[in-house]
Amino acid sequence: MTDQEQRLRIAVQKKGQLADKSLQLFEQAGLKITRGANDLLYRAENFPADFLRVRDDDIPQFVASGACALGIVGENVLQEDWPEIEAGAVDVSRPLGFGHCTLKIAVPNEMDYVSPADLNGVSIATSYPVLLKNYLAQNGVSAGVVEMSGAVEVAPRLKVADVVCDLVSTGQTLAANGLRAVETVMKSEAVLIRHTGRKTLYPEDLLARLLRRVDGVLATRETKYIMMNAPESALDDIIEILPGAGAPTVTPLAGKPGQVAIHAVCQESVFWETLERLKAAGSSAILVLPIEKMML
Ligand code: ATP
Ligand code: ZN
Repeated sequence: MTDQEQRLRIAVQKKGQLADKSLQLFEQAGLKITRGANDLLYRAENFPADFLRVRDDDIPQFVASGACALGIVGENVLQEDWPEIEAGAVDVSRPLGFGHCTLKIAVPNEMDYVSPADLNGVSIATSYPVLLKNYLAQNGVSAGVVEMSGAVEVAPRLKVADVVCDLVSTGQTLAANGLRAVETVMKSEAVLIRHTGRKTLYPEDLLARLLRRVDGVLATRETKYIMMNAPESALDDIIEILPGAGAPTVTPLAGKPGQVAIHAVCQESVFWETLERLKAAGSSAILVLPIEKMML
């Protein structure tokens, strides 16, 4: 292997919704990323990895070809490109919990709409023709598909199409263009994808090390350390309430017979409602702490 091949290459979006969060994920995994002179390729100083910064639409192919070992892309883009990806070349390894959005069909406010059957014979503008055509086929709808690379929401006003199929997060853009969402085609979030084809041009041990760290970061996002005092008699009830906790540590409290301290790692979000239920079950002095690092 040459020097170049000893470094992992990771494809991330250069500019847009996923750009910052993609780099942050690897920074939380301990990588020091130099946002340097080379705009296309950012280097990690303390780990043999480089970040190829490209348009999100190119990321699935970069990973499929083996040019990059890993990539971060929206599921919507991955599924849209899926027919063009060689079988077995890409594996969706992890959902990442950011970049949430929904691909929706939206119609002009004045249009009568009851069900997908109302889409028969209309033209639909979209940047996601593959996903839209799948949806239409599944619902037995015959509609025209007008492919646009952007500004899909203005298509009805420009009379380029009757309705749109576009990504929605808050719905404000639709409302501003006199449209209302009527159907969900796909829910999406950012995913980590990895090359699984024959060209393993990158060192597997490095990849495994990095993925273990990423898993640690993802695990700590929701995970909390929770501590409380409680009467020993309430232990069963409390364990029942604790969200996603393994076996908690239970220790006697000095000078307080029948009272114990309970410490547990909770793998799910701890909500105020959970704390209220713990209190009602007899707990006091309840503390919820974030976990900074974790290796499973
Ligand atoms: P590029 O120049 O890379 O092609 P783009 O315009 O296609 O950029 P963005 O609008 O930055 O892409 O969105 C990238 C991805 O982020 C989308 O494919 C989708 O998965 C997700 N996404 C889109 N809109 C939002 C949003 N409002 N909030 C969070 N994630 C979003
Ligand atoms: Zn794009």
